[in-house]
Amino acid sequence: MTAEKRTFQAEVSKLLKIVANSLYSEREVFLRELISNASDACDKLRYLALTNPDLTTGDGEFKIRIAADKDAKTLTLSDNGIGMSAEELNDNLGTIARSGTEAFVSELSGDEKKDAGLIGQFGVGFYSAFMIADKVEVLTKRAGEAKAHLWTSDGLGEYTISDAEKANRGTIITMHLKEDALEFLEEQRLQHIVKRYSDHIPVPILFVAKTDAGEEEKALNEASALWTRAKSEISEEQYKEFYHHAAHAFDDPWATLHWKAEGVIEYSSLLYVPTQRPFDLFHPERKNRVKLYVKRVFITDDCEGLVPEYLRFLRGVIDCEDLPLNVSRELLQRNPVLQKISSAVTKRVLSELSKKAEKEPEEYAKFWDAFGPVMKEGLYADGTEHKETLLSLVRFKTTESDKLVSLKDYAERMKEGQEAIYYIIGESPEALLNSPHLEGFKAKGVEVLLLTDPIDDFWLQAMFEGYEGKPFKSITRGSADLDAVKGGADEKPEDGKKDEEAKQDAGAEIAPLIASLKLALGDTVKDVRESKRLTDSPVCLIADEGDMDINLERLLRQHKQ
Ligand code: ADP
Ligand code: MG
Repeated sequence: MTAEKRTFQAEVSKLLKIVANSLYSEREVFLRELISNASDACDKLRYLALTNPDLTTGDGEFKIRIAADKDAKTLTLSDNGIGMSAEELNDNLGTIARSGTEAFVSELSGDEKKDAGLIGQFGVGFYSAFMIADKVEVLTKRAGEAKAHLWTSDGLGEYTISDAEKANRGTIITMHLKEDALEFLEEQRLQHIVKRYSDHIPVPILFVAKTDAGEEEKALNEASALWTRAKSEISEEQYKEFYHHAAHAFDDPWATLHWKAEGVIEYSSLLYVPTQRPFDLFHPERKNRVKLYVKRVFITDDCEGLVPEYLRFLRGVIDCEDLPLNVSRELLQRNPVLQKISSAVTKRVLSELSKKAEKEPEEYAKFWDAFGPVMKEGLYADGTEHKETLLSLVRFKTTESDKLVSLKDYAERMKEGQEAIYYIIGESPEALLNSPHLEGFKAKGVEVLLLTDPIDDFWLQAMFEGYEGKPFKSITRGSADLDAVKGGADEKPEDGKKDEEAKQDAGAEIAPLIASLKLALGDTVKDVRESKRLTDSPVCLIADEGDMDINLERLLRQHKQ
């Protein structure tokens, strides 16, 4: 292959234009992105070398080097990681493969300010080099391959890939700096950026300074894995930056959980709960993204079963000491050690959430708004191990409170004689509050849970045993009966007998009306009944006890089931 010119995928061109032109004040993050890629490349090779040690013979110490050439106005970042083949170069630096980036592009609005915010959320990756450079060269040689390749581009729509010479494996990125970006040649400036964003990178990052005697290397970072350090030695800033790095996210973590388990199974864990819902939380292929390390070696960030699906919003790292290093990724999820870790981690995370819920209910409400619908999946997906804890963590909007309500709160407020926990499912709390089904409940002051997540139908159907012996009952179903409940507007100090008589009278009065309604509606309804749940509205629709809930029926009909 000689030099071959290609055009960027249309999305890449669009992305490049925005990245290169609209993020002036944020452009120092280019270094974080390139260092993060270099560190990933080292991780990948370290993993492959577990089963194929030849790949690293002669050069077993991973490092990332930064060199500045003030005469040539170039900044160079090199790593001895896995490198890229010609095909990988083309796929990785010419098209958009990552689903996140695709979603990002689809959300671009053309409004620069808004789009710049989006870039923050999705991460700009390699292309951020064009924020500070008007020409970028990537010279790379894949570990184990004989040939090297050179990728060059001015970021304006085309790139070239050609055969090249390179002695060792790895990647060298040379950036020809824009005239207004020469500050990034200063050692102080670079050191500052590395400290700020990349101190936690476990690979040494070295600054190469030219001296009269030749070259001198200076370490810019600590180069020990952040999660192995003592809590007391880690600043909040460092925790935050690690989160940004590990999660590809740019919000602040809602919670940071860092602990070391030293019992039967030894592992360290640094996990984060994001503040914002990741955009792909409900994509069907969406699995957890927690990174699994074994003795500081990165294994995978796609390990099914490492944390349960209903905790898939967690980000961060689990590093265990007791898994064999050469375990195949495929066999991992059935490994009993991994299962034990998963169960211990789940327990710990749920208990931390419980603490937050107890001590900082307002903060917890924010968490629940973002991740409640996912947590509810655990109520029917997770067997019974954590069901009780999960039930204590669920929060609801209700008819009686403008704050989120727990089942414990609800149970404490139940009226004398009330035997069930009542709920109604629909599209929004506002719409539900206007539902005629609620009238009788409001009149008696009986609290009703207002449910609006698509998942609600499903977990409630799995809740046979109810909460502390009290069954859940939909008020749009047949027998949501309020007769037994005392209190509210229609409580009259009458004795039982009179009450009965009054009922029968009413029954006799209403019978002809019911009969004529039945006649008029015919087959379109199953039955017409007198109801105690209405006070103002004349009628409402309900589902029969054994039938589907009205909302579920509507949902299924929408999806033509
Ligand atoms: P991301 O890192 O999120 O995948 P980037 O735009 O930062 O997105 O990088 C795109 C891809 O290019 C990476 O996934 C990786 O495959 C490849 N790549 C980038 N830099 C390097 C590098 N220094 N060594 C090897 N591969 C790299
Ligand atoms: Mg990257």
